Amino acid sequence: MSLPAPHPQRSQRFGLVAHRRHRQADSGLVRWAQACEPAIRALGLGLHAVGGTYDALARAGRLAGYAPLVRYPFGYEGGLMRLVSHVAGAADPKDGLDGMIYLIDPVDPSSIYPEALALKRQCVTHGKPFVSTLAGATEWIAVELAHAGLNEVKIEGAERLFALETQTLALIAHDALKDRMVDFAATHFELLSRFAGRVATGTTGSRLNDMAWARGWPQGQPWVKRYQSGPLGGDAQIAELVLDRRCHKVIFFEDPHVARQHEADIQLLERAVCSASVETTCFNSPVMAQRWAQALQLRPTA
Ligand code: PGA
Repeated sequence: MSLPAPHPQRSQRFGLVAHRRHRQADSGLVRWAQACEPAIRALGLGLHAVGGTYDALARAGRLAGYAPLVRYPFGYEGGLMRLVSHVAGAADPKDGLDGMIYLIDPVDPSSIYPEALALKRQCVTHGKPFVSTLAGATEWIAVELAHAGLNEVKIEGAERLFALETQTLALIAHDALKDRMVDFAATHFELLSRFAGRVATGTTGSRLNDMAWARGWPQGQPWVKRYQSGPLGGDAQIAELVLDRRCHKVIFFEDPHVARQHEADIQLLERAVCSASVETTCFNSPVMAQRWAQALQLRPTA
């Protein structure tokens, strides 16, 4: 259960999109690029940016002259649609992408356009990272630094994102992925136990508590606090914690291959995460969560 190995002949390449609110002057996009520029350059990370996002970086003078920063057409010219294809493997494999950074403003109407939904779905389907928040975008660059053994390269503002002892973690898995969630949590039990608190939807939570008690977690003391089952509103309850900045990371193993009766609730939670963009990260698939957890073991402070 590890991320498909990056192409041996090239550095990784991520699509990059920022909604209007995140790309104004001194906005999240520009501040992210400023803090992460040394790391992006050290990694040689390719960034394939849709027109308006590329132009915002150029206006701010960020990543100037950086050849792996590539401009795609504007959204209305199909830039986002091309990214979806490139995440799925591309019409021409040389255009393939390894993940997406998509800084979403949940009240931007384009956040629910089919190409936006398909972009996340194809990332989840192909086990590629889909990063939707400012916190996540910074954290993910730090994750890639750790995997590349470049721990000496620093990202301003990244350390707080790894202060697990100050954060609450949400764990949610759709039925077909509940076994993988239990395996993931068991494999990284010590790491996940460092969080100040853990919450979960009802059924996922009861599986996780059983796993924790079987490992010797004190009986009668839940390892995760359980909310309603997802279809009964558990996602919405966890969304409220996110909006209150009382939940900072969401590990959500979603099943992209079934129709979900509570699709609206699932999207509500993901949109709440984007409302708390500076503080919150969401990991949507086992490979993404696994890569994050492995990076924490590789970081010197872990
Ligand atoms: P569950 O909810 O953990 O109660 O199954 C998860 C979901 O379906 O969203």
